[in-house]
Amino acid sequence: MSKPELKPTPKTDTRKTDQRFDIAVVGAGIVGKACALGLAQLGYSVAQISPDLEKTISLSAQFGQRIYAISPGSREFLDGLQIWSALNHQRIQTVRDMRIFGDQNQNKEQLHFSAFEVGKPELAWICEADLIEQTLDQACRFNKNRTPLSNSVNAIHIHPQEALLDLDNQKTISAQMVIAADGANSPLRSAVGIHATEESYEQKAVVANFICTTPHLETAYQWFLPQGDILAMLPLPNQEVSMVWSCSAEHADQMLQMADTEWEDHFEERANGAVKNTLGSIQLNSKPASFILKKLQAQRLIGPAFDPKVILLGDAAHVIHPLAGQGLNLGLRDVATLLKVIGSKEAFRKINDPLLLRRYERQRQGDTNALIWVTDRLKKLFGSNQSIEKNLRHWGLGFVNRSHFIKRQLIKQALGENHLG
Ligand SMILES: Cc1cc2nc3c(=O)[nH]c(=O)nc-3n(C[C@H](O)[C@H](O)[C@H](O)COP(=O)(O)OP(=O)(O)OC[C@H]3O[C@@H](n4cnc5c(N)ncnc54)[C@H](O)[C@@H]3O)c2cc1C
Repeated sequence: MSKPELKPTPKTDTRKTDQRFDIAVVGAGIVGKACALGLAQLGYSVAQISPDLEKTISLSAQFGQRIYAISPGSREFLDGLQIWSALNHQRIQTVRDMRIFGDQNQNKEQLHFSAFEVGKPELAWICEADLIEQTLDQACRFNKNRTPLSNSVNAIHIHPQEALLDLDNQKTISAQMVIAADGANSPLRSAVGIHATEESYEQKAVVANFICTTPHLETAYQWFLPQGDILAMLPLPNQEVSMVWSCSAEHADQMLQMADTEWEDHFEERANGAVKNTLGSIQLNSKPASFILKKLQAQRLIGPAFDPKVILLGDAAHVIHPLAGQGLNLGLRDVATLLKVIGSKEAFRKINDPLLLRRYERQRQGDTNALIWVTDRLKKLFGSNQSIEKNLRHWGLGFVNRSHFIKRQLIKQALGENHLG
């Protein structure tokens, strides 16, 4: 998708606005849809703009490939939007245990988190992306405050009171505030001049679902393998598991070429029997897919610098390694914060008051910086083949496992309890 242009503010702008909105949300992934719905529920008129809006999402009997671990904080947020109870819960799996295995002895567990240990009924839920998106679509369709526009943005003009967006259908709309939820490559982020630091992990993640013969016991498993690979098996209903295997691009490409019957031997060879010992025999039950992995952090969450009217949310603001299963959860916390900032604003302030935009930015910086830092350090520690780092991670996993206090803090962080209600 081409980058929209940022047009300087003319003294007199004679161009006609075809439609006026309070807020324009650009992008319609889960973050964009949740944000548009939340703002519409607050009573604002919202334009949701994305070229893929007309695409209808249909679920088949098989689980989709894009599967997310949803934290209790995100569950609570989706509940507030009245989305959580509308999801088909037969397609969602509760996680009550998490077992992590280091690379020095792949069959020996090194770190164990349990919901029981922190007095909670569950640690997370494993859910298809398509199921959440489909349910958000249904809820959005019933909200008259949200207008879907299946377009992309060609240019953005910043005026003192509002922003004008030129769409690819030759129409121009205006909005007091523009939300960029247009993903990791966010054309809007670059259009308003917000710089993002990016680092490639030189890895891809291969995802696929498998039926297993040994019950997963509502447990999420993760193995740090000697060659720097990270293999996660997340539980799904019907004795299935969802695999996320982060590895070199060559290894990922090799896996995508494999015949369905080759997977079991491949697990044996690369994970040294660990998967078979835990989950029994496995049988592929979806088409595998791969995603390029990188770290990205936008330097500012609002822009342009001369008159901020654009706010970044979700992957447009930050991209992290999937090893902690937290990217979407982080994006939903962006949305929750924005809704709170706007929902609790003083009556005399307009929604594009720079102070409100800065409030959002300030409130999101700590959480985002911490999660990006921790995930990046973990990725680097476990991806290294140096013996010092190997010993350190082996010692570190054992140390954390023995420290009840540190474990509780880590679980609280993963549950999203430090940030939401
Ligand atoms: C392998 C893998 C596993 C993961 N597992 C987890 C997990 O377990 N838990 C978790 O919390 N996170 C996980 N994540 C992270 C998660 O996938 C992302 O953080 C999340 O999807 C980001 O959502 P988003 O809506 O911000 O962006 P996206 O889903 O990328 O959506 C962006 C939207 O913007 C639209 N768009 C793009 N350009 C334009 C434009 N010019 N104009 C208008 N619209 C535009 C796109 O069409 C799309 O609709 C995982 C990621 C990977 C790669």
